[in-house]
Amino acid sequence: MTTNPHPHFPASYTASSLDLLLSALKTVPAYSAWRQHDRGGAVAVDERFRLLPILTKQDLRNHTWQGFIPAGDDHAAALDKGDIEIVQTSGTTAEQLANVWHQPWWDAAERESWRHNSHTARMPLGDHREAILTSPHNTGVVCSNSLLDMARRTRGRFLYLNEKPDLSGWTDEIMRRMLAELTAFSPAVLEANPLYLARLARFAARCGLRPYQPGIIILTYDNPGAIARRQIRRAFTTPMASSYGSTEAGYVLMECEHGALHQLSANCRIDFQPLIHDATIGRLLVSAFNNPWRTLLRFDIGDLARLMPGQHCPCGRNSGYIFSRIVGRTANLTFTHDRLPVTTAEVEDALSPIAGIAEFQLRQRSSARFELTIVPDDSSRNLPGLKDEAIAGMRRTYGPDAEISVAFASILQAEPSGKYRLTRTDIVFDHNDLFAKEC
Ligand SMILES: [Zn+2]
Repeated sequence: MTTNPHPHFPASYTASSLDLLLSALKTVPAYSAWRQHDRGGAVAVDERFRLLPILTKQDLRNHTWQGFIPAGDDHAAALDKGDIEIVQTSGTTAEQLANVWHQPWWDAAERESWRHNSHTARMPLGDHREAILTSPHNTGVVCSNSLLDMARRTRGRFLYLNEKPDLSGWTDEIMRRMLAELTAFSPAVLEANPLYLARLARFAARCGLRPYQPGIIILTYDNPGAIARRQIRRAFTTPMASSYGSTEAGYVLMECEHGALHQLSANCRIDFQPLIHDATIGRLLVSAFNNPWRTLLRFDIGDLARLMPGQHCPCGRNSGYIFSRIVGRTANLTFTHDRLPVTTAEVEDALSPIAGIAEFQLRQRSSARFELTIVPDDSSRNLPGLKDEAIAGMRRTYGPDAEISVAFASILQAEPSGKYRLTRTDIVFDHNDLFAKEC
C-alpha cells in the first residue's frame, strides 16, 4: 500500500534512539514506571519504543521539570551558572507549564533546521538580524495598555514587532509602525505567526504599501494554512518556510523549498501513530535527542500530520519522515454526523477556494450544529453570496443536514495564549480512541 510509510533514516538514528531509551529508563525519574513495558535488548529498538506509553503535557506537569532530568545531574548548580533557566509557557493557568530552557540545545537544533531548506542553507545565519511578529505571550515583550518604543522591544539582534496580547489591539497606527520598523531594522529573517503576518500583509495591501522584504519568512508559533499564506503573499514575495516544533520538543520539522515538511532526524525521533479512519494522517510522538536537561520520550506534540505519498520529495532530502502538511491539532478536530474526525485543514480546504474570506473560525456545538465566523476580505462585496458559498462548503464537509450559522466579524477570538483555534467542537472525545496501532 502506498500509504504505508517507509522513511529512510541515517545509521546514527537507531543508535541515538537506543541511547535515549536506555538512559531515560535507567536514570530519569519520570520514566521509572515505564521500565515494566520495556522488553529489553532482544527486541528491535523501534519495537521497544512502540511498546512504551505516550507522554502527555499532563505527565510533564505531574512530574515537574525536575522529573525529566537524569538522576545525579546538578540542576541547582546549572541554574546558578546560567546554563539553564526555567521558562513558563503561555496559556491559562491550567495550560501553563514550567520548562527547562537550555539555549545551546535550542540553537544547535535551529541550525540543523536551516540545513533543510535551500534558502536558509544559503543565508549566512547565526548572527543575523531577526524581526519577530507573534503574540507577546510567546516572547515576553507584553504591553496591553500603551505602546513600547522600538528600543524597549529590541533584544540584541532581535526586534519584537508586537507588544499587544492579541490582534484586537492592533490599530492602523501600530501596523504602520510595524512596517516602518521592518524597513528601519532590515532583518534577514522575519519569524512570524502566520495569522499575525497575514493581518499585517492585508493591511499593507489595502494601503498600497510595499513592505521591506526580508531574506526569508519563517512561519512558526501556529500552523500556516492556505488562507493565511495567500494573505501574506499579497504583500511579501520573499521565500517562506514553515518551521515546526515546540518549546518542549525543540525543532522537529522544517519545510523545504518544495513545500514538504522534513523530519529533523538529527534532532529527534518520531513515532507516527495513524488515525483509524485515515492511515495517511497521524499524530507525532516526539523523542528529543541531545538535550541533557530534559529527557523527552514519545511526547504527543498535539498536532496531526499527513504523510507525503511514497515518502519522497523532489528536493532529495530523505533523512526521516516526510510530511506534506500539518493538518491541525488533535484538540481542534471536529466530527461528521457519523463521528468521523474532520481536521482543521479539511475545513480550510472547503473554505479557501471561496474568494473574500480573510480569516475563519468554526465551532461545532453538537453533532449537526455549527457556528462559522468569517472575517471578510477588504475586497469582499457580496456578503450574502459569500455566506451561501460557505454554508455549501461546510455541508460538503459535514453532510447535507448540517445546520450552519454564519456570522461576520472584524476580528477572531484569541485563546489566552494568544493563539487562535480555527476549529473546535463542544463534543467531548478521548484522543486515544481515534488512533490505530503505530506503524
Ligand atoms: Zn523536500
